[in-house]
Order: sequence, then C-alpha cells, then structure tokens
Amino acid sequence: MTSSNDQLNINICKKCILPETFPGISFNDQGICNHCQREEKRLEKMPEKKESYRQKLDQLIAEIRDKSPAYDVITAYSGGKDSSYTLKLLRENYDLRILAMSFDNHFVSSLSWDNIYNVTNKLDVDYINFRPPWLIMKKIFSMTAREDIFPMPTLLRASAICTACIGLVKSLVLKTALEMEIPLVAFGWSPGQAPIQSAIMKTNPSLIRQNQLALKKALALTNSRGLDRYFIPETYYTNYKDRFPYNIHPLAFFDYNEDQIVQQLNTLDWRIPTDTDTNSTNCLLNAFGNHCHLERHRFHPYVWEIANMVRQGIVDREEGIDKIYSRQDQKMVEYARKRLGL
Ligand SMILES: [Zn+2]
Repeated sequence: MTSSNDQLNINICKKCILPETFPGISFNDQGICNHCQREEKRLEKMPEKKESYRQKLDQLIAEIRDKSPAYDVITAYSGGKDSSYTLKLLRENYDLRILAMSFDNHFVSSLSWDNIYNVTNKLDVDYINFRPPWLIMKKIFSMTAREDIFPMPTLLRASAICTACIGLVKSLVLKTALEMEIPLVAFGWSPGQAPIQSAIMKTNPSLIRQNQLALKKALALTNSRGLDRYFIPETYYTNYKDRFPYNIHPLAFFDYNEDQIVQQLNTLDWRIPTDTDTNSTNCLLNAFGNHCHLERHRFHPYVWEIANMVRQGIVDREEGIDKIYSRQDQKMVEYARKRLGL
C-alpha cells in the first residue's frame, strides 16, 4: 500500500506540485517541471483570454436565450462546491432557464443532498435526479477499483472510478439535452480540471459517438445487462443532429477563489460537508478512488488539477501540497471498500 509517507519522499516540482512519478515528467536544473515551463507564456495571456471567453459566452447566450421550448441550459449538478457555484453564476449573471440534473451514484453524502435541496430552491431552478440501481453501480465501481479500464491519458487526470462515473454523467446529461432540446450543457469543472480552450465548445456528434463507444466497451466488462440505456441511442445522431448542444464550463474563465466561493454559497445555505475527503465536497467514494489510483500509479489522481491551480495562482502551493500529499482519508477508504464488498 502506498502511504502518505511514501508520497512525502517523492521529489516534486518546485513551482507546481507535480511529482517525479507523474508519467512523462521532466525537470530542469532549477527543479521546475516541463509542464510549468511550457505553460509560462500561456499563463501571461490568461487575463485577456478569460475576458474574451466571457464575451464569447455573452454572445452565445444572446443567441440561444428563450429559443428552446423548455430550458436554456442543463447543468450537471453534483451538489459540490464547483457545480453549485456554476449554477449560481448562470442563474444570477444570466438569468437563464436552468434544469439542474444530479446523478446519484449511491455515494453522495447526506449533507450534499441538503445542499442540493437548498441551492436549487434558493436559486429557483428546476431539478431532476437520476439514480441507476445499486447493483449496476456496485459492479462498475468494483471493477474500476480493481483495474484501470481507461487509457493512460485519461488516468493522468482522474481515477478509473471517477472517470467511469463522470462518463455516465456526461452521457446522461447530453442525452437529456438532446431529448429536451436544450442548447447548452454546463459543467462545474474547476479551472484546474479543464483547460480554458475547451470552455465553450459545440459538441461534435462523431466525436461523442467515438467516446461513447469507448466507454461502453470499457464498461461492458461488468457484464451488466442494459447499460445501453445510459448512452446516446444511435438514432439520435441522425434524428437530433441539429440539436447537439454547446458544452460550457464557466469556472475556467470567471474569477475563482475557493474562500469567496464558499462564502457566496453560504448565502444559499450551502455548507461545506464534513463527511467527505479533502478533494471532494460531495462524494463518499472519492477517497477510495484516489487510494486505488495511488496504489497502482504512485501519483494522486487530483495532482494534475491542483498543480494547474497552483500554477495559475488560484491555490497556494503549500495548500496544494497539503491537499495532495499530507492527508490520508483511511476511514473514508474503508467505508467505501466495505460497501463495495472488496
Ligand atoms: Zn511544475
């Protein structure tokens, strides 16, 4: 088992926090990693870039507003800090007709349900929850806990458990958008999780089809019957070809400060859950996913995200180190392991 102490003995970049165990990493004489060196120029242009994306979103919203019979935007809503803040932004800055959709993976913390209830009510948005049966989720999570069914580029950014779960979320949200003719799909990716370049992007049906096939193939190993119902039916690619929405993740180009976000969310009666690990504000499975990933790959599945935010000056380096390298959530790990019967 990889302990946090093992992790502390690993050399990490002097600027961000990527470890020497991160695949493909190299360091210069000053101990700065190749990612920091490459990003330096791009980061200088970040303020202008963010401004241009805010204008781009204004434009897009002007184009789509009130065009759809029901909603302007569907938001993938976990009840966590980032998606709650995204919901608030879209509601208060743009006054959109929003449908918030959550995915109950059977590991959502009970405090998170309270947060979902409070935030959707206070923001006056419609809300639906989607919950597959426990046996299906158990199979998917047990499998991804034991083996990496995804290619390495994916696993650099998230654990296999997280990737499987998010894959289903993305699929279900898109499916709902197509069925309800909703032109925008919003995600609460943090500025470290997803690059600004993809922050406003029209979905590409053939690319979606490829991703769906890959995920279906990976998950087929569970032998769960009927997983097809969570994916985009083949007919949608022709029947709804003009309905493919824009994906947006606004936190990439709005000011992002964790303390301020929490403060603002408090006004909506959102509270920091005390029953989750340090990298998630809604999921009780996350710590176990991190643990399995760390054991297999010797780098933390959140290190890419947090390193990006350290580089952007959004997260203090010491705080980043603390999030990734100092703490063990052994109780949370055991809780999930026990429930999955592993
Ligand atoms: Zn670095």
